[in-house]
Amino acid sequence: MENAAGDGLLPPPAAWNFSPNEALLGLTAVSLRGVLGRVKAGMVEDGARPVVPLGHGDPSAFPCFRTAPEAVDAVAGALRSGEYNSYANSVGLEPARRSIAQYLSRNLPYELSADDVYLSSGCAQAIEIICSVLARPGANILLPRPGYLFYKARAIFNGMEVRYFDLVPDRGWEVDLDGLQALADKNTVAMVIVNPGNPCGNVYTYEHLAKIAETARKLGIFVIADEVYAHLTFGEKKFVPMGVFGSVSPVLTLGSISKRWVVPGWRLGWIVTNDPNGVFQRIKVLDSIKSYLNISSDPVTFVQGAIPQLIENTKEEFFDKTVEVLRQTADICWEKLKGISCITCPSKPEGSMFVMVKLDLSCMQDIKDDMDFCCRLAKEELVVVLPGYAVGYKNWLRITFAIGPSSLEDGLDRLKSFCLRHSKPKK
Ligand SMILES: *Cc1c(COP(=O)(O)O)cnc(C)c1O
Repeated sequence: MENAAGDGLLPPPAAWNFSPNEALLGLTAVSLRGVLGRVKAGMVEDGARPVVPLGHGDPSAFPCFRTAPEAVDAVAGALRSGEYNSYANSVGLEPARRSIAQYLSRNLPYELSADDVYLSSGCAQAIEIICSVLARPGANILLPRPGYLFYKARAIFNGMEVRYFDLVPDRGWEVDLDGLQALADKNTVAMVIVNPGNPCGNVYTYEHLAKIAETARKLGIFVIADEVYAHLTFGEKKFVPMGVFGSVSPVLTLGSISKRWVVPGWRLGWIVTNDPNGVFQRIKVLDSIKSYLNISSDPVTFVQGAIPQLIENTKEEFFDKTVEVLRQTADICWEKLKGISCITCPSKPEGSMFVMVKLDLSCMQDIKDDMDFCCRLAKEELVVVLPGYAVGYKNWLRITFAIGPSSLEDGLDRLKSFCLRHSKPKK
């Protein structure tokens, strides 16, 4: 039997066998891109004023955050050498792993080796890998609230149960350790901390990290330490890697070059096992990671090839300059936010690129919630910020200050006019 077009094909099937995986479609609500897409949906660019992007953290487009020339040379050199046109191996090229091990060992009381390092396509893929490795039927994972959305999405997609522990705003967003312990049971496999923090812009002290490690040991769970913002600190507290406590409780440290070198498009990250006692080896965590890497794709080979030069040659001045700009923009943000009605900011950001602020809806006359606030702000002022619900904190906002200083001032001034215009008249 032929179809009507007479092209010799069978008639089309009455129905295609595909039907969408509803779990996947449901994840749009828990993806940053999904939420920001909805915030921007009603925004019409008028050509008169530029859009101010305070929603997602990618400062790479701003000249003051341009990456180090040594980093560019490293990649160009690797590409020109012709030595990196092949597939890499599944765990990553040995020289790159060794150089990352040495780089991270500078801040640790013991030496990491190349074997402790696994390369990934950015920190995002590192999260994906770890969630896949940890997810066995029935497992649950403890995530911070507020928190970085991607963990939730990956954990849920892998079938893990997600439980939330609180970060306490008036204690510098420290982990509520009592609450955390109450959540854990024998199916809890790990807890996640993000330090320096996204979305809170906080930095944890040595003492607090020590308590986290002791708690994890007591519960028999691993600590996943997302340190993608390592060394991006500009307050009193210096960055301390969680790996310092690897002998108390084994730590999976996740990182990348995306934020410190301001090259999120280069897609190179890592998983590092901070485990001087060899726990991971004994209970087959390492075998699990290697098995997963055998069935996933690798970061681009020439960026792997560039890593030793990139790490060795980048000058301290570049890092100092980036931190200096962030200090300046964090200051601008803090000072300007203080003068905006209906918004309060519990603490000045000390690290990363973000700050959380609280909306006082009772002082506004016609705003329903954080999402409504963000959609109307985008529409009326062409300023994009992330509604707090997207990081598990309804009626707060996450604002990034990692953009050029003059755009930031402009954006915060527009935020101020918006709040003024929508606040209730004073009695
Ligand atoms: C940006 C970010 C990531 C993802 O990093 P990439 O290297 O760009 O994949 C992971 N975790 C946190 C907390 C981030 O802010």
